[in-house]
Amino acid sequence: MITVVGSINMDLVVSTDIFPKQGETVLGNLYTTVPGGKGANQAVAAARLGGEVQMVGAVGLDAFGEELLAGLKAENIQLDAVKRKEGASGIANILLSEGDNRIIVVPGANHKVMPEEIDASKDQLSTSSIVIMQLEMPIPVIQRTLELCHENGVPTILNPAPASGFNRELLKYCTYLTPNETEAEEIFGEDWLQALEQYPNRLVVTLGGKGAQFYDGEKLVTVKGFPTKAVDTTGAGDTFNGALGVALSEKMPFAEAVRFANAAASLSVEKFGAQGGMPTREAVMNRME
Ligand code: ATP
Repeated sequence: MITVVGSINMDLVVSTDIFPKQGETVLGNLYTTVPGGKGANQAVAAARLGGEVQMVGAVGLDAFGEELLAGLKAENIQLDAVKRKEGASGIANILLSEGDNRIIVVPGANHKVMPEEIDASKDQLSTSSIVIMQLEMPIPVIQRTLELCHENGVPTILNPAPASGFNRELLKYCTYLTPNETEAEEIFGEDWLQALEQYPNRLVVTLGGKGAQFYDGEKLVTVKGFPTKAVDTTGAGDTFNGALGVALSEKMPFAEAVRFANAAASLSVEKFGAQGGMPTREAVMNRME
C-alpha cells in the first residue's frame, strides 16, 4: 500500500484578459473548479499507474469537501484516514491571463490536521510500502510522519514543495528528497550539485524537460527526460512523485524508477490540467519501450 500524507484542494480557476489593479473590478472570461492540491495530485498519479493508494489528510465540511472526496474515491483511493474538518476545504484561487498567473492558496482543512492524527494512523503508515509527502501540510505533521516511518523502517519520499516550509530536520529522516531545480537552490544554495554527492541515491532533482539528476555513489547520473510537445506542465512534478512512489514500492532499481517517473511526467505535460493529464500504466510502458 502506498500512503500519501498531503493536501487536498479545490482549484478555482478564473481566466481574464487583464488582472484587476488594486480596488478595481474587471469581468473575467471563464471560471472552472478543478480538484488539486499536491497530495491529492500525487495520490491520483500513483493510483492511475496501478498503485494501491490511501490518503491521510483532511477536507472541510463544505460542498467542495464532498466533491473532492468523491473524485478521489472514483480513482480508487482509500479515504478512511481523510477527516472532515469544521469550516472550508483548502482552495487555490488561480487567476490566469495571457500565460501569466497569480495564485493564492488558502490551506483551510489541510492545516487543521494535527500530529496526533498521524499517530492515530500509525497502523496504516507502518504497514505501507512507501509514504509520500509534500509541504502543503503543517510541518509538525510532516515531521511526525517522517519520524514514525523511520522508526518502522518504512521508506519515504519528501517532495519539498513549496520549499519555503523546508527545514534541515526533515532531511534527517526522509529516505528520498525530490526538489525541482528552484527548490534545490532554495534548500542547498547555488551549488546544489554538490548536495547530490552528499545524499547518494536519496536526493533526486527534477530538471523539467531535461529529466532528473542524482548521484549514485560513484558518479552523477542524468536520467534523460522524454522529449514531447508540452501543452501544460501543471502537475508534472506531482506525476513524477506519484510515479516514483509506485516504482520504488515495486522495488525497481533507483535509476529505472526515475526513468519510469520521467516517462509518466512527460505524458502528463501533453494534456491540460494536473490530474487531467496523468497517464495510465499502459501509456507509460509504451513510452518507455
Ligand atoms: P510543475 O511545477 O510544473 O508541476 P516541477 O517544477 O515540480 O513541475 P519539473 O522539474 O519542471 O518539476 O518537472 C518534473 C518532471 O516532469 C521532469 O523531471 C520531467 O520528467 C517531466 N517534464 C517536465 N517538463 C517536461 C517537458 N517539457 N517535456 C518532457 N518532460 C517534462
